[in-house]
Amino acid sequence: MTFHIITIFPEIFNSYFNESIIKRAREEGKIKIKIYDLRNWTEDKHKTVDDSPYGGGAGMVMKIEPIFKAIKDIRSNMENKNPRIVLMSARGEKWIQKKAQEYSDYDDIIIICGRYEGVDERTCFFIDEEISIGDYVLTGGEIPAMTLLDSISRLLPGVLGNEDSLDSESHLVSGQKEYPQYTRPEIFKAEGKEYKVPSILLSGNHEEIKKWRKGNMR
Ligand code: SAH
Repeated sequence: MTFHIITIFPEIFNSYFNESIIKRAREEGKIKIKIYDLRNWTEDKHKTVDDSPYGGGAGMVMKIEPIFKAIKDIRSNMENKNPRIVLMSARGEKWIQKKAQEYSDYDDIIIICGRYEGVDERTCFFIDEEISIGDYVLTGGEIPAMTLLDSISRLLPGVLGNEDSLDSESHLVSGQKEYPQYTRPEIFKAEGKEYKVPSILLSGNHEEIKKWRKGNMR
């Protein structure tokens, strides 16, 4: 799968996408990530991507032309030319695990990151879906884009070291929350108290452990 991210702050992604599981997935060719600087699709000397809103009001709005051209160019360089195109937006459809599963079937996903007060509304004619990562407002679509990429990537075959870990994960089915996990030490002592690992997990009785875990999904 290839993620194509359109942003005016391409540097933001360098650190997160070059660590840990995402880094390994890229190195092993399980995912590809392409970051595009929206300013490459501007034509004026100042590489302008925003302008003031019609009708007045606070802030700036991202112009449609650079976004439109970026989508067009990126699509034309794609093999199957049939990407899923998403605009990050505080007003969008809520991003949930079920959506991450749906999106894991696409070959190419184009993600547009807004800034300022958002993008010119006519962008909506050229995208498939507006997505929100939650009911709050961020300063830009870059963190939401990372959220999409991360949650989709870990569902792709071979991306997680141990795919069994997907079986019981939170949100696999709506409302499911994973059972509690513990690791060494068996007894953690702090501030005069002892915090113990549930004894069943130390029993070695796999049937009982399975039952306990099932009963302790939240
Ligand atoms: N004026 C807009 C918010 C703009 S925030 C409004 O009231 O809805 C600037 C950009 O950050 C948005 O265009 C979007 O790309 C991104 N963004 C902010 N909050 C987001 C959220 N919860 N989910 C996804 N994207 C978000």
